[in-house]
Amino acid sequence: MSSSNPLGEDKSKYDYMFRYIIVGDSNVGKSCLLLQFTDNKFRQNHEATIGVEFGGKTLEIKNKNVKIQIWDTAGQEVYQAITRGYYKGATGAFVVYDITRKETFEHVEKWLEDVRTNASKDIQVILIGNKKDLESERVVSFDDGSSLAEKHNILFLETSAKTAFNVQEAFIKSAEKILEGILKSGVDPNKNNQNVKISSGDDDDDEIKEKKKKCCL
Ligand code: GDP
Ligand code: MG
Repeated sequence: MSSSNPLGEDKSKYDYMFRYIIVGDSNVGKSCLLLQFTDNKFRQNHEATIGVEFGGKTLEIKNKNVKIQIWDTAGQEVYQAITRGYYKGATGAFVVYDITRKETFEHVEKWLEDVRTNASKDIQVILIGNKKDLESERVVSFDDGSSLAEKHNILFLETSAKTAFNVQEAFIKSAEKILEGILKSGVDPNKNNQNVKISSGDDDDDEIKEKKKKCCL
């Protein structure tokens, strides 16, 4: 996937860059959420992700330009063997299930565990119940999702990558939380660290290409 976006805002300067990962069972709609967020599009037959795909977009949050860069998993979710490298350096995580398939919800704890063991301990996690447009096929209630999120002290939203319901909101809600944490903790904004990059340009692009080469077979 390209990091193009119709508003052409991706090349603009940004104050912070947050890197997100999206995990969850196959076919819950991870790639579609990414596409809807970056390109405002939905594909009925989105091809299975191969390798790691990237998408990005810059949002204005609390008067700061925040570049959201998203790493999408690569079909390894079937084998449940996502490499540690994928989690490394992620600021935020989307843990996604499908409200029409119970087993995808039952696997959420396993995905949370994966995030907890492999990612930074400060990672901001949001639980996403996707395919909200398929209300008539729903088998996981809003309350079940909400209670699980509460139990793990993480954010929660139901979304539809098809209708775009809550997709932008999910990224905004999560990025706001991350930004709040940064502003509260008084992290020196001029100091680069692995999780939060401060940059005036697209200097991360080489890094992305490099990672992409390594990730994709
Ligand atoms: P991934 O394996 O988690 O990346 O899932 P995909 O993004 O490839 O989506 C899997 C299938 O679910 C595709 O056929 C999508 O068109 C469909 N899909 C994804 N999100 C939604 C949604 O919000 N609503 C509906 N109705 N279908 C969706
Ligand atoms: Mg995918």
